[in-house]
Amino acid sequence: MPTPGLDGYAPAWLKPEHADLAALARDFFTEQVLPHAERLERQGHPDREHYRRAGELGLLGLSVPEEYGGGGGDFTHEAVLLHEQAKCGEGSLGLAVHSGIVTGYLCHYGTEEQKRRWLPGLCGGDLVGAIAMTEPGGGSDLQAIRTKAVPDGDDYLVTGSKTFITNGALADLLILAVKTDPSQGAAGISLLVCELGDDRPGFKRGRLIEKIGLHANDTAELFFDEFRVAKDNLLGAEGAGFFQMMAQLPQERLVIGVGAVAVMQRAVELAVAYAKERTAFGKPLIAHQNTRMVLAECATRTRASRIFLDDCIARHSRGELDVPTAAMAKLWLTEGQCEVVDKCLQVFGGYGYTTEYPIARMYADARVQKIYGGTNEIMKELIARVL
Ligand SMILES: Cc1cc2nc3c(=O)[nH]c(=O)nc-3n(C[C@H](O)[C@H](O)[C@H](O)COP(=O)(O)OP(=O)(O)OC[C@H]3O[C@@H](n4cnc5c(N)ncnc54)[C@H](O)[C@@H]3O)c2cc1C
Repeated sequence: MPTPGLDGYAPAWLKPEHADLAALARDFFTEQVLPHAERLERQGHPDREHYRRAGELGLLGLSVPEEYGGGGGDFTHEAVLLHEQAKCGEGSLGLAVHSGIVTGYLCHYGTEEQKRRWLPGLCGGDLVGAIAMTEPGGGSDLQAIRTKAVPDGDDYLVTGSKTFITNGALADLLILAVKTDPSQGAAGISLLVCELGDDRPGFKRGRLIEKIGLHANDTAELFFDEFRVAKDNLLGAEGAGFFQMMAQLPQERLVIGVGAVAVMQRAVELAVAYAKERTAFGKPLIAHQNTRMVLAECATRTRASRIFLDDCIARHSRGELDVPTAAMAKLWLTEGQCEVVDKCLQVFGGYGYTTEYPIARMYADARVQKIYGGTNEIMKELIARVL
């Protein structure tokens, strides 16, 4: 059933093959992962088995070339997968990072040898990917990171710590932002691909960070003390890290936008259905003028958001999504998500505040969208710079 207010709308980039992918993804999330949702929330991280199952079904690395074990598609395929995941309310698997971000760095900057070494494991679900930029001392000012990598023969010795790392508890493969030249700002940053293992000397995972939402997805601290990483694991050139991140962040922000719009659609669907079924003062909620107005606003915001998102996806597929436009998408779509979910929650009255109803979880999960991937204040900076 289409989202109320989106009837008859289809993105211009949609091709017939996307419908099969969407159905496969939807079935996987709803039949194989969601039945475990409560347990996954309690344990605070996804099941590794679910990554493997997603890999077997061909749902990981959809935009990775087939020769490296991927789906041979493009960003539109990743967008379909992430839309379906968010739309059905599956929040354990960190696919936005694993497939939406990590494989992209390897495809863009990896050597042939690096791609052959790591991409098949990520696409098959045997390896879980993560990316670590943020440090306890600060996340917005990326140039000021302090984790350092000091050359030692054929290796680097990495010392420092990272925090808020999505997939951090399970990650086997980590793209790690380090300073290879601490005397420099942006030009001193490099990216290392770290093969993590809890038995590797110099590496420790911290506690699972307790959050107000996204309970089934792991967010962790990572500590490095003279952790040995081969120089062969450098991604691209020394000193290129900051520029690589700046080039990849538009995709990360778009991925966040995909989730934001899917959640808006779900919120409108849930609230409209509830407003038709629940009665107050002898008539359905939807027959009360205020409820009608609120739902009309939410449906309009959702449709406009969807169209903006689809324009950005189409631009990105053509290699034309620039930094300020991606920042606008992240800013406006996540603000819209929080606003729409809040208004839809209100329609549920007291039930909207109980975790039994999905809208309550959606409310708690939404808040972080304005924070990670670069805060919305930083997005406004990026937009204002080109005005
Ligand atoms: C659930 C979750 C998952 C995350 N996943 C990852 C991950 O996988 N990898 C990763 O590297 N990071 C991750 N992060 C970290 C996230 O990207 C950072 O929290 C974010 O970038 C902000 O950094 P900070 O928390 O250090 O805040 P700060 O940089 O300390 O900012 C604090 C406040 O000051 C504002 N501010 C800062 N500078 C300016 C400025 N110039 N102008 C105006 N306002 C400003 C910010 O907008 C914010 O409101 C995650 C965070 C969370 C909560």
